Amino acid sequence: MLRLTALLVLSTAAWSQTADTVLLNGKILTIDSQFSTREAIAIRGSRVLATGSTAEIRKLAGPATRTIDLQGRTVIPGLIDSHLHAIRAALSFSTEVNWIGAKSLTQALGRIRDASRTMKPGAWLIVAGGWNVDQFQERRRPTQAELIAAAPDNPVYVQLGYGWAILTPAGLKALNIRSDADLPAGGKLGPTGEVTGSQNVIIALFDRLPRPTFEQQVEGTKKFFTELNRLGLTGVVDPGGNNLLPADYQAVFQVWRQGQMTVRVAYALCGNNAGDEFEEFKNLTQLLPMGFGDDLLKFNGLGERITAAMNNNNRPSATEKEKYSQIAKWAAERGMSLTMHWGGDASVGQLLDIFESVNKEVPIKDLRWSIAHLNDASEQSLRRMQALGVGWTVQDAMYFGGEQFRQTSGVEAAKRVPPVVTGAKLGVAIGAGTDAHRVASYNPFTALQWFLDGKTVTGVAIRGPEETPSRAEALRLYTLGSAWFSFDEKQRGSLEAGKLADLAVLSKDYMTAAVDQIGGIESLLTMVGGKIVYSAGPYRQ
Ligand SMILES: [Zn+2]
Repeated sequence: MLRLTALLVLSTAAWSQTADTVLLNGKILTIDSQFSTREAIAIRGSRVLATGSTAEIRKLAGPATRTIDLQGRTVIPGLIDSHLHAIRAALSFSTEVNWIGAKSLTQALGRIRDASRTMKPGAWLIVAGGWNVDQFQERRRPTQAELIAAAPDNPVYVQLGYGWAILTPAGLKALNIRSDADLPAGGKLGPTGEVTGSQNVIIALFDRLPRPTFEQQVEGTKKFFTELNRLGLTGVVDPGGNNLLPADYQAVFQVWRQGQMTVRVAYALCGNNAGDEFEEFKNLTQLLPMGFGDDLLKFNGLGERITAAMNNNNRPSATEKEKYSQIAKWAAERGMSLTMHWGGDASVGQLLDIFESVNKEVPIKDLRWSIAHLNDASEQSLRRMQALGVGWTVQDAMYFGGEQFRQTSGVEAAKRVPPVVTGAKLGVAIGAGTDAHRVASYNPFTALQWFLDGKTVTGVAIRGPEETPSRAEALRLYTLGSAWFSFDEKQRGSLEAGKLADLAVLSKDYMTAAVDQIGGIESLLTMVGGKIVYSAGPYRQ
């Protein structure tokens, strides 16, 4: 009887070890604790069955197993952006013109011209950010005359960050804007269609543009996720953001219901009703406990705009801080995560004071709260964060903004921005990402290259070697590091037996390619949960 049981166990084990897919003859960067490299990987169902040598993994293949020959190519765990406004970017991805990655203004204007040919006359052409003048050879913004020439029959709107926008006469007419008085309060209209003003002016102006239909939003969401897959991304932690209302989540919910998620999304809720955010959060989360969802889509707490009053406010009043504290404490009591963006170290004490006082009443150590941005984080702030268990999501803001930072803060200060090596040494949980798509590109390889060379978009190296992570460390930040922020580091972020089979086969070897080639890497094959969600080149299906 004993022998029979043993035999049965053995045969069950053998059966269960037949892989659905094996990837052989490659260089698998597992991102396990030793940063091991393996030749091959086997996948069963949605999970990694094993990694090992090609000979070992071949033994797990049966007659029905799909075999993929990597021909020496490098495989990484699917990248995870820990601060990407994906839900918002996706809504308009099928209806907006994208200037991300355009090398010249001529090329960028060409994208408007191309779009105007496929769009109906009268349809809006909208560039909603994600670009910077420094990426263009011409080093300047478009003029109204150039936009008219590119799209004579369409209203055009182009936004730069959150401080400037320009409209063509057709665009101004469509929105009934003739003077400052027709703009959101505080906005200024230039003689040739430029709109300047505070962030709130630009946000309100953008809100006047026609919104994509629901079908376009769903279509945009699928397209955007595929675009992320093309760049090896399989997960995002989405911090909500400006111009994103609860109703706007319906498109991603629809894609989830259709079973077509190709990027895992952990989403947050923002406060939208200025002054009444607490009520808003209480209402919206009554049926939404922390972590609710599945491994493709789940609720990940509050952020990045908790209250309008404390949003990008370096000098909040006592009352504003008190209101924020109440919400933070309430979130802590409910076991919710919370992410907050903060610009500079000089004022982040305002936020850390709140976190510390909440922590005295309700421990937040296990809730994985986080601060985004904080590019010039001081050692003292990082220590306070570490003590609280507050993580840090780091973006490549200096890729666009480095030279300006150096001008205002000096060469020495710029050398340590952002201090990820110090942060890691101090034991702060760190994730990597971009903050796309209004203020940055979503391309993770742009960010990875920038982590390694510290160079701005114009090629000026501003960061010093002290705060430059190794290739392995940068990749770890973009995978396991980011997974921490949605409590997922045991499920994904590395390629180890039992974990979700999220991976990307790269067009170039991230570990040995010249650093200046890393930004050009793409995925040739992306898998999410063992399913191929993107394929190109030799793997095109
Ligand atoms: Zn952000």
